[in-house]
This record gives sequence, structure tokens and C-alpha cells, in this order.
Amino acid sequence: MLRIGIAPDSFDPVTALQAEALYAAGAELRLDRMLLLPWLPGRKGCASVEERLPLVLCAAEWNGITVDYAHSEVRCLSSALDRICGAEADAAYFLIMSEKQLELACEEKDFAKLQKRICLCRFSEAGDASERGERNGEPGWVMLRTARPADDEKAVRDALYSLQDPQQLSRAELVKIAKTGMYQPCSPQVRNMISEHRWKHTLGVRDTAVRLAMIHHAPVIKSAVAAYYHDCAKGMETKAMRKMLLENGLCSDESILASGALMHGIAGAWLAREKFGIKDEETLQAIRNHTLGRTNMTLTEKVVFVADAIEENRDPYPGLENLRDVAEKSLDAAVMYSLTLTKQFVRKSGKSFHVRGESTYQWMSQHITEQERMYLKERMEEHGSERTG
Ligand code: FE
Ligand code: FE
Repeated sequence: MLRIGIAPDSFDPVTALQAEALYAAGAELRLDRMLLLPWLPGRKGCASVEERLPLVLCAAEWNGITVDYAHSEVRCLSSALDRICGAEADAAYFLIMSEKQLELACEEKDFAKLQKRICLCRFSEAGDASERGERNGEPGWVMLRTARPADDEKAVRDALYSLQDPQQLSRAELVKIAKTGMYQPCSPQVRNMISEHRWKHTLGVRDTAVRLAMIHHAPVIKSAVAAYYHDCAKGMETKAMRKMLLENGLCSDESILASGALMHGIAGAWLAREKFGIKDEETLQAIRNHTLGRTNMTLTEKVVFVADAIEENRDPYPGLENLRDVAEKSLDAAVMYSLTLTKQFVRKSGKSFHVRGESTYQWMSQHITEQERMYLKERMEEHGSERTG
């Protein structure tokens, strides 16, 4: 007989421990299949059902259990269960819930009737009704050895919205969330502020920034959000950008105010704060300084700076492949290498390299380790001047 588990939960998002508990319950009950039901009694989900459920697949490895999920939000659990249990008459059904979820389910008037057709399985939780012996005599109850951790989805959502990397998520979930902007203050308006080409680049920078942040242990969500907004001012007219910078006292340096390319980072950070409510200073700095860098760059700034230069949609330029390799190994070396390439490019086109970029370069060259310096030198020699010059 097919053994089918049904797990109603908010999954908004699921924490790594909650997903593991669900998997362990499935193994304990020897389930063939587990159906995950998005169920949020009395609350509206923050992420859509489609966005939410794949996270559970990242959070737990479902070895030996086939996982299905319902693609629409369950409003009334009893009627959803009624429908599900009617589909396969020969199967044995197991409803897997926490004590708190059970209390909510019991508020539905038809829930009690279902107990004949479905085995109710409950996670053990310290101090709950079964431990106190209140439910021990009830028929149809299976008490799982698996404990389910507390519901801390709200703490996870709050952390993500305030640009922290929550400890409760698995690495795979964090990456997925960071790359999609779920639970983050990433306004869809950005898409309409820039060209299609720039939007594609933006998403490429975000993907790359998340990857680099994971490799180099930098803040993942801050890097992703900074990458998302880094070129949000790129669609503005140079004149309007200059006006905005002057009127708000954001810049008085004529060498920057003369160029849209040099102004858009500062303008972008301003828009991110004023228009989109990004308050985190590290994130704003990464937007502000993504073109020329600065002395004392943070990890987040370095990640966005390098990701901007190497993302996959970039038109090829001399040294790009080499820079991509360097970025995997060392962020500092990649910042230096990127500035070297820009310097060479600017000089070749008869212009002078901005003093701000030069000071970033000098600062970085003083802070890079001897090992990184040697590595960079080797890489630059190895690929030869015909590629980097
Ligand atoms: Fe830019
Ligand atoms: Fe960019």
C-alpha cells in the first residue's frame, strides 16, 4: 500500500531545521510520497506559493521520498484533505503537523470527520499536550519521535528584509532567495527605470555577486540588494543626475559631475535610500562606489565592484576571462586587476584615469597579501599583455 504523507505548513520560508524535521518524519513513517501543502491560516503569504515551495526542496534532501507540492494556497485544510484522500483510495494517508498547527486545524468544523481516513501524526514538542498526556488516549494518533523546531519564519523574513543573512536557512536556500529578491526590499520599479540591456546586466551582477559572496564569505543579502540597485540611476539623463547630486549636496567634485558614468553610482545610492527605503549603509556604499571603488572598501563593496566587471552578460573585453578566474580565488586581487584593466583601457583611449580610482588602486596594492600579489602577477604574465593590454 502506498504511504502518502501530507504536510501543511506556511513554508514562508521554511527554515533548514523545519525542512529536515519534515524529512525525518517522512523517513520515520516510511513514506513513499510527501505532499507539501501551503497553508497559512489567517495570514497572507509574503512570497507567492510558486516562489515558496521550491525552497523546501533546497532546504532538505528528500532521499527516498518523492515530494509533491500543491501549487495553490490552501484556505480550508479539511476540504483540501478531503479532496486529496479521495484521489487514491488504496493509499494510506498520514497528516504531519505540529501541536500549534493541529489546534488551528481543529477550529475547522469538518476536521474531526477526517480522522477516520487519515492518520494524524504529530511532532514531539517539549511541553505540548501529548507530553502532558492529554492526547495519549485519543485513537488514530501517532506521536513522532521527530521534534519540530519553533516557527521562526517571521524572524527569517524580518532578517532578510533588513538585509541580514539568517542563520536558520540552508546555504542553498539563502542563495535561491538572494538571487530572486524574495523577502528583500527589491522594488520591481527598477525594471522600468533602465533599459532591457541594463536590466539583464543587473540580474547578471546580482547572480554573480551572490556567488562571489558565498565563495568569499561576504554578506550575501547585502551584496544581492546592492547589486540589484547598483545601476538604477543609469537610465537618467546626465543633466538631471548632475542636478540631483548638486541639489542634495551629494557631490561637489567637478571631475565627477562632468560624467554620467562617474555620477550614476552616487545617484543610484541616493535613489535606493530615498525612493526605495534602503537604509543599510554598507549596502548603500556598495552602490555608491561600484564604479571607482574607494579606500577601505568593505567586503560587500568589493563583491559588487567585481561582480559588475565580470557578470556573464558583459561584452567581452581584453582580460575578462582572466579576471573571472582571479575573482574565484581572491576578491582583493580581482579589485586590483579590474582597476588595472580599466586604467589600461582609459589610457589607451587618450583619457586620464580618475584620481579616485587611482587611490583605490594604491590602497588595494598596499593591503593585498604577498601571496595574492604573486598570484596576480603570475596570472597577468601568464595571459600575456596581448589579452590584458
Ligand atoms: Fe554601473
Ligand atoms: Fe553595472
